[in-house]
Amino acid sequence: MSGHFKEIPLLDKVIAQLEKQLSSNKYTGFIYFEIANSRKIKDYYGEKIYEDLVSNVNDTLLNFCPSLLIDEDIIATDTFSRDCFFIFLIPSKRYFIALEDIKLTLHRILHRLNEEIYEYGNVTGMRDRVEFYSGCNFLFSDPLISIQRLIYEARKELLLNSKVQDFMFSFINNISHEFKTPLTCIKGYVETLLEGAMSDKDTCQRFLDIISFETDRLVKLTSDLLDLSTIKSSFLEMNRQLLDMGSLICRAMTYIKPYADKKDIKINYDRAHFNSLLLVDGDRITQVIINLLENAIKYSSEGSSVDIVVKKQGEYMRVEITDEGDGIPVSCIPKIFEMFTRVDDDRSLKKGGRGLGLAIAKNIIELHRGIINAKSETGKGSTFYFLLKEFNSNAEDRI
Ligand code: ADP
Repeated sequence: MSGHFKEIPLLDKVIAQLEKQLSSNKYTGFIYFEIANSRKIKDYYGEKIYEDLVSNVNDTLLNFCPSLLIDEDIIATDTFSRDCFFIFLIPSKRYFIALEDIKLTLHRILHRLNEEIYEYGNVTGMRDRVEFYSGCNFLFSDPLISIQRLIYEARKELLLNSKVQDFMFSFINNISHEFKTPLTCIKGYVETLLEGAMSDKDTCQRFLDIISFETDRLVKLTSDLLDLSTIKSSFLEMNRQLLDMGSLICRAMTYIKPYADKKDIKINYDRAHFNSLLLVDGDRITQVIINLLENAIKYSSEGSSVDIVVKKQGEYMRVEITDEGDGIPVSCIPKIFEMFTRVDDDRSLKKGGRGLGLAIAKNIIELHRGIINAKSETGKGSTFYFLLKEFNSNAEDRI
C-alpha cells in the first residue's frame, strides 16, 4: 500500500498518483464506503465521540489494509469530515482483478470495521450500530473526464445502489409483516374451528366474521399494492378530462355515504360555494377524495361531522377535508404520506388500516403536479388538503 500514513490522506493528495496508475493500467478496482448514519450519531453523542469514531475507522483501515492490499493500492478519504473512504485496487501486480475479488475485499474490510466498531461501542456506551453505505466497481480511465469527476459519478452510483438495497429490505420486511399478521390470525381461527369450535353456531359465526374481515384486509392490501406499483410505474395511463371539482366530490360522497351512515357521521359540503374546472383524471382524483373521506370517518367518533371546503388559492384550487377525530401529532405529519406509516399502529390496525392510502393519494396528486398535506393536532381533529391547478384555457396545461 502506498506510503505509510498515520492518517489516511485526502483524495486530493493522491489524485496525481491515481492518475498515473490509471493512465498505465486503464482501470482500477474501486471500493467506497461511508458512515451512513453520521448525522444521527453526531447529534446524539456529540462531535467529540463522532471524531473518535472516525479516527477509529481510520486506524482500523490503516492497520488492517496492509494484509489485504498491495503496495500500489491507494487509500484515501474525501472531504474534511473524513468519514467517507475510498480504496483503489491497482491491477498492475495482480494477475487480474474481477468484480468478485473486489466484493470479497470490501466484505472483509466491512466485517473487520464492524467488529472494531462493536468493541468501540461497548467502550463508549454507543448503542447505535454504525451503518455503512458501501459499494465496489471498476473505475475506467477516460482522458476527457477528470478523475475527480469519475470518482464522484461512481460514488453517486454506489450510494444510490446502497440506498435502493436498504429500501428493498425495509420494503420486503414491511410487506411480509403486513401479510403475516392477518394470515396468522386467519390460520388461528380456522384451526380452532377445525378442532371443534364449529359445533357451536354462535362461535362459528363470530370466527367466520373475523376471518372474512381479515381476508378483506388482505384483498385490499394486495389491490393497494398493485395500484401503487401501477401509479409508480410509467405504465399508468392518465385519462385527463375537463371536469369540475364539485362533481368529483359528489361522486366520492355518494360512494362513501353508507360507510359514514354506519357511524352516523354527517359530511357537509356546499357545492355552490366555489367550483371550477380542472384538467384531471377524474377516477384518480375521486379515489384521492374517497381515501381522505374514508380516513376522516375511520379516525372519528360516532356522531361527529366532516366538512369539505373548496377554495381558490392563486392559480390553484384548494380542497380541504376536516374531521373532528383523533388527530395526528404534528411530528408525525411528514411521515404519514410514506408507505406503511401508521401513527398509532394499534389503533390503525384495529380500524383496518394498511398505511398505503395516503401514499397512493400523494402519488396521484403529484402526478397531476399538485400538492397534498395535512394540518392536525392530537385530539383536535385533522384537515387534509390538496391543491390542483385550475384549468386555464390560455395556458398550456400539460400533466
Ligand atoms: P391507513 O389505511 O392506515 O388509514 P393511510 O395511508 O390512509 O393508511 O393513513 C396513514 C396513517 O395516517 C393512518 O394509519 C393514521 O394513523 C393516520 N391518519 C390518516 N388520516 C387520518 C385522520 N383523518 N385522522 C387521524 N389519523 C389519520
